[in-house]
Amino acid sequence: MTRQDLARQDLGFMPRENPCAQCGKPIARPDWVEHGDGRTSYLWHCRACNYRFEAIAIYDDVQLTPLAA
Ligand SMILES: [Zn+2]
Repeated sequence: MTRQDLARQDLGFMPRENPCAQCGKPIARPDWVEHGDGRTSYLWHCRACNYRFEAIAIYDDVQLTPLAA
């Protein structure tokens, strides 16, 4: 995986400066981004403490029928 691969997957929303789940240091950008069905997984790797963790963003882009129809 290269930096160019990461840049190509940067399609709009990209979390940045996410604090490390272990030591709290901000991580500039995720190591790996995987786009799924209505969700995107971000794999973060903290270079300060070498901790890896995953964060998942759920997108609510499905148009639901209004309940009060
Ligand atoms: Zn850390």
